[in-house]
Amino acid sequence: MTNKDTIQSKLNIDTIRKDFPILFREVNGRPLVYLDNAATSQTPRQVINTIVDYYQNLNANIHRGVHTLSQEATDAYEEARRKIQEHFNIAKPHEVIFTSGTTHSINLVATGFTSFLDKDDEVLVSAMEHHSNIVPWQMLCERTGAKLKVIPMTVDGELKMEEYNKLLSQKTKLVFCNHVSNALGTINPIKGIIDAAHGVGATVLIDGAQAAAHIKADLQALDVDFYTVSAHKMCGPTGVGILYGKEEWLNKLPPYQGGGEMIAEVTFEKTTYADLPHKFEAGTPNICGGIAFGAALDYMNAIGFDMITEYEDELVRYATEQLLTIEGLKIYGTAKHKTSVISFNIKGIHPYDIGTILDKLGIAVRTGHHCAQPIMDFYQIPGTVRASFSFYNTKEEVDVLVEGVKKAKSMLL
Ligand SMILES: *Cc1c(COP(=O)(O)O)cnc(C)c1O
Repeated sequence: MTNKDTIQSKLNIDTIRKDFPILFREVNGRPLVYLDNAATSQTPRQVINTIVDYYQNLNANIHRGVHTLSQEATDAYEEARRKIQEHFNIAKPHEVIFTSGTTHSINLVATGFTSFLDKDDEVLVSAMEHHSNIVPWQMLCERTGAKLKVIPMTVDGELKMEEYNKLLSQKTKLVFCNHVSNALGTINPIKGIIDAAHGVGATVLIDGAQAAAHIKADLQALDVDFYTVSAHKMCGPTGVGILYGKEEWLNKLPPYQGGGEMIAEVTFEKTTYADLPHKFEAGTPNICGGIAFGAALDYMNAIGFDMITEYEDELVRYATEQLLTIEGLKIYGTAKHKTSVISFNIKGIHPYDIGTILDKLGIAVRTGHHCAQPIMDFYQIPGTVRASFSFYNTKEEVDVLVEGVKKAKSMLL
């Protein structure tokens, strides 16, 4: 038996794939090969069933009604919060704030810091951030006069930790970094980044949007101040995610939005705010989405993150080897620790053209700058083709990708 057979059968990929109805559709007359998991993951029927069940049996507004439906919906939503708390080893359930996703979570923190910064302060951001972890901080710096500084990276796509340590000073108030880069796949050494930042008294936000589907983060062990997740990148629905914040920080930050649900008492003279987590959850939330996020975590945990990580590493290793047999193909992001993402180009061909031909063959990849234009500027390229993997992908699909890229190359060169 080859290695390929062992790992795929250990995880029982065929059975897992049956949970994802979309994987059985055809695209342009070919079986779908879905390799755009870094943009959004597919949804297993267990999560789809949770969504159907919610609207068939449970639909009501939460935290308000005395009636049974409202109480059942509230219980299910709060149960999902507890699942998320447990999954990320968070100390208290009210340190989990439901948001619409990572972008919302980051904006909540960046806006909240406005009154805590002034023009002598510095904010550090890594060179490999998603736009959603750059633009809100630029806006914060514009509001406050604080300076944004960039932690540089190597051509392999690894952060230069020595440079980072030099950039840190008493002026550093905030540090932002992703756990895994969505454009390069680099797993950043976030424990070291967090500890060093705390050494100078800075606060750290880690963008976990790309990491959470692949790595189970222990947020108490990391001692991180803020961590963000989007459900749709880990088998959940779009439009829901979380902000984790240490209780002391969430108590210090002002509310982000005003409205129903986030108040203790309202008069026209003065409003007092509700306790955590409600202070940050104004209005009717994505109730069904939150409950389905909990179901997605149940689903992935039943498979087991150790298995998922091991299998995906194996897939990425295999895909890297096979892709590199194609002459003229260059991979961007060759960090020692990486996961799930392969960004590449073929000399003389625009990534968009490769993506278009792959689509004709039923293969879904992303092309372009992947919401990380500074990385593309760094490599002086317009974009890349990005194949990104999940635990429901197979080595056979990698083979289809490699054959597709070869075909695209022969058609375009
Ligand atoms: C996807 C992603 C985001 C943005 O997430 P949204 O769900 O679109 O808010 C931010 N950072 C990284 C690293 C991502 O992969």
